[in-house]
Amino acid sequence: MNSGITERAVIPILWDHLSTNIPSLLNASKSKDIILMVEPRKSSEKANHHKKKLIFLISSMRHFAQELQENGWTVEYIKMSSLENSGSLRSEILRVCKSNNISNILVTEPGNWQLRETFKTIAKSHHYNVKLFENNNFFATHSIFSEWASNRKELRLEYFYRMMRMKSGILMKKNKPAGGRWNYDKENRGTLSGSEKFEPPLRFKPDDITKEVIDEVNAEFAGNFGNACNFWFGATRSEAEAAFEHFLKHNLGTFGKFQDAMDRDSSFLSHAVISMYLNAGLLDPMKVCERVETLYFSGEVPLNSAEGFIRQILGWREFIRGIYWMAMPGYEDQNFFNFSRSLPNFFWTGHTELQCLKSTIQQTNVEAYAHHIQRLMITGNFSLLAGVKPEEVHQWYLAVYADAHEWVELPNTIGMSQYADGGMLASKPYVSGGAYINKMSNYCGSCQFNVKKRNGPDACPFNYLYWNFLDKNQARLRSNPRLRLPYNTLSKFSKEDLREISASSKTFLEDLV
Ligand code: FAD
Ligand code: SF4
Repeated sequence: MNSGITERAVIPILWDHLSTNIPSLLNASKSKDIILMVEPRKSSEKANHHKKKLIFLISSMRHFAQELQENGWTVEYIKMSSLENSGSLRSEILRVCKSNNISNILVTEPGNWQLRETFKTIAKSHHYNVKLFENNNFFATHSIFSEWASNRKELRLEYFYRMMRMKSGILMKKNKPAGGRWNYDKENRGTLSGSEKFEPPLRFKPDDITKEVIDEVNAEFAGNFGNACNFWFGATRSEAEAAFEHFLKHNLGTFGKFQDAMDRDSSFLSHAVISMYLNAGLLDPMKVCERVETLYFSGEVPLNSAEGFIRQILGWREFIRGIYWMAMPGYEDQNFFNFSRSLPNFFWTGHTELQCLKSTIQQTNVEAYAHHIQRLMITGNFSLLAGVKPEEVHQWYLAVYADAHEWVELPNTIGMSQYADGGMLASKPYVSGGAYINKMSNYCGSCQFNVKKRNGPDACPFNYLYWNFLDKNQARLRSNPRLRLPYNTLSKFSKEDLREISASSKTFLEDLV
């Protein structure tokens, strides 16, 4: 492939584009062009990124730069500790262009709307020839998504997912879904008996590059969230692929069944723990799905696991990305319920008596990881029930997980988890009382609150906050058909019940700082 640009070009490579298959590289000339990679400085980062997230992304950048250099590319690599690192990607690009007398920039679309605008401004106000290529680490292009979304009253994952199954041919037999059904979601809700054994994700010993990054991150980002000890993520494509193969061998078989379960003593259960690799460009989503499909057709994994896994990548990951680019700018400011509470401080410290939150946040602090249901039904559920400002919830999720980049984190938080877009992405708010958490986890057994009680100082706060949320937001939510059941139940509550729910909620929320 070639862009047709014959003069020299600068190719900025961002930390989520760590693949030789990105279009800006496929269009570049090894003999003439300069690759530019710039590490973040503390001063340039608004987000309080988890130290392990920074170590992972920066170490992966350094490994990728080394691979490119070994393959003959000219790489200008600016470390966080370098004196010439101004902390501004824009200034670094302009500096390198100027000092090499280059006016062409080839870049793969960033996963952040604001950064994409920066490249457009560089073109407009500095008269550079900027060529922005769409990121190809996805199944759907922007135009596939917008064509699908146009003229639809509602954007729902299920229909998008079916379209993507048909378009890609994945898990299809003669134009019909393999096994006869599109979706085995109902078979993804198994609960744990306590005797299951799960193999933890594959761990990698830090090499010299990673060790150096650990020291530098600990110095430059000393006050940031998260524990940097025992760093174990892979930092290269071959390590990411080995981690994925390890998941296929040990955990894919039970992935479907236990997708929604939570366990105080196991952070990963059957989950793949590959989102950070996929989002950094170290794994190819198409190869990942094809590999799982092959295992299903050869009879090595059950359909509920294969379909459940492929739905996450071919369905959710693509759908979420489509929503981000469609809804930006402005999506980050959505606040359907007009919530004004600040994020409680315990989200940063883990110091809370609510065991489910304590476990999830402490695990997040150690691993820079929590699986989907922990994010959705523990921290997300609580933020929504407590009425926290969506923007602050968004900043937290963006900071604390190793896989967090704005294109994927923002719709998951604003749309799916906080319903702050009023239902553009999700068909109902994902809220629950303690009974759901108790059914899907073993947190409640060691909690000082009583999950069976609805009101009072020792009742599980999720219980009264849940009913209080439904009660206070009737005008906005009552007509939602997916909430008919809980509203029917609520309508049977006596005035006294509602008064007690409101009083318990008020007392709890007044103490929440
Ligand atoms: P598995 O459970 O093993 O799933 C396999 C893969 O499916 C994941 O690696 C991921 O690539 C994909 N996937 C599954 N669900 C989603 C989804 N909803 N959106 C996008 N991809 C999905 N995911 C991120 O990659 N980055 C984020 O910043 C992020 N923020 C989230 C914030 C909130 C509030 C919520 C509720 C979810 C968020 N997710 C995010 C989605 C999901 O929680 C993670 O993708 C998943 O937990 C990653 O762990 P895993 O690799 O073990 O995934
Ligand atoms: Fe969480 Fe309530 Fe269970 Fe405690 S009792 S762990 S607060 S759901």
